[in-house]
Amino acid sequence: MKRINHKKYCFDLMCMKNIQNIKTIHTFLKPPNNEPNYKIKNYKRSILQCKNCHHFFAKHKINTDNLYKKNYSTISHGTNIKLKFDKINKLGKKSDNFHRVERFIKFFNKKDKKKIDMIDIGSGMGIFLYNLKKKVKWRLNGLEPDLNFANFCKKNLKLKIINKHFKKKLFKNKKYDIISLNKVAEHVKNPFKFINDIKSLLKTNGSIYIEVPDGIAALRSKQGVSREEFFLDHLHIFSIQSFSNLLIKCGFKILRIRNIKEKSGKYTLYAFAKKNV
Ligand SMILES: [Zn+2]
Repeated sequence: MKRINHKKYCFDLMCMKNIQNIKTIHTFLKPPNNEPNYKIKNYKRSILQCKNCHHFFAKHKINTDNLYKKNYSTISHGTNIKLKFDKINKLGKKSDNFHRVERFIKFFNKKDKKKIDMIDIGSGMGIFLYNLKKKVKWRLNGLEPDLNFANFCKKNLKLKIINKHFKKKLFKNKKYDIISLNKVAEHVKNPFKFINDIKSLLKTNGSIYIEVPDGIAALRSKQGVSREEFFLDHLHIFSIQSFSNLLIKCGFKILRIRNIKEKSGKYTLYAFAKKNV
């Protein structure tokens, strides 16, 4: 783990518009090994990188919205969500989620204090909320577009889940103290707009916790661009610079930002940030 001075980096998530700043890292003509089989007919996609802030972008004509409509949970996690859930949960300290919950609790350090309203955007099969619920007395909610995941969380885990795609207006005037986004921002077309919208759902002193894939560490590794960080469902893969830029540009004050290698082997960047008002 390295301490990072985020202030010195460029501020330029719009770099994809300036073609001279962009280089092609790799073009896939078929899916890399181990990528879930999304059954795409004309599989051609490129990974581009900004020479300035080192952010990675996916370039292709594949409609990734379709991945999430019906069967993302089934393709990515198999038909039996409960089996997968139990398997990960049984890993205990060997799971990524265990450590996510630990750093979360340590960072916020007010588990028994006043009621905190929190929402996990993209709550998936609910592992994070389920384990967090055991440790805090906060009001926990999830937002998850996948129907199978949402139903599993509601029925099996007794979690409060909104089964919808993220839209700002969905929340009307509801505001949160904490919003978490675990491996979500890389899936959206415009992370700047997305994180900006997320910010508007925070209370005045609200905080966010975000995890995104670390493209720099992934590219440096032995498997390089064939790794999961660069799979089809990721439209953006971050560098510390581009991740910082995104948060600062969206009006956040970064409280902590780190690069880690998770137990699963994933290269990840995470940040805690406060609404900078
Ligand atoms: Zn850039």
